[in-house]
Amino acid sequence: MSDTPRIHLGSLLRTSSDAHAAGNLDHLNYEQGAETQTLRFVRPAPYRMDVNSLGGDEMYLQGSFSPDIVMECARCLREVEVPLRLKLGTLLRYEPSVETPYLEEAETGEEVLVFGNPDLDLSAYLAETTLLQAPLSVLHAPDCKGLCQVCGHDLNEGPCEHMAQVPVEKIDDLLGAPEGSAHVSQHPFAALRDLKLPED
Ligand SMILES: [Zn+2]
Ligand SMILES: [Zn+2]
Repeated sequence: MSDTPRIHLGSLLRTSSDAHAAGNLDHLNYEQGAETQTLRFVRPAPYRMDVNSLGGDEMYLQGSFSPDIVMECARCLREVEVPLRLKLGTLLRYEPSVETPYLEEAETGEEVLVFGNPDLDLSAYLAETTLLQAPLSVLHAPDCKGLCQVCGHDLNEGPCEHMAQVPVEKIDDLLGAPEGSAHVSQHPFAALRDLKLPED
């Protein structure tokens, strides 16, 4: 398993031949600010990239990357595997003075990955593509019931004592009680509302 996704562009720059790279990644290290971050994948994530010369110092990279990432269910916070199938496509520009590859926006609005080392490390590019294309939030199941807002109990595992505080109207919504019917008395918790506790 390769540690870093690299593509060797030296001979492409000299002879305009195509370049290819493929492999599997179980994680990506990338720099954010001054810190090294690690993006881990559930299983080795295959990538494949082809780079074609566009003439001069410009080239085009296309390919695919298929990482399975772990996110938290937005309601109950349990871990969810999210399979991503990413298409890669970006302009590249070689500028020998550039030390760390960076993305800039071309006049056409397209992104350009500018780099100075022909032995191009695509860790940051792949990490950014993954983070940008991951969904903002996921549910572990479409009908996830979430957590009790009082005690944090996972309501997918059954109700907790605070379920009695759910407003009657809301439970009637769930039960589909017809409007205007005497539904309060049908409600299983309704009797509790009239319960007189002894004063001490
Ligand atoms: Zn959930
Ligand atoms: Zn509760």
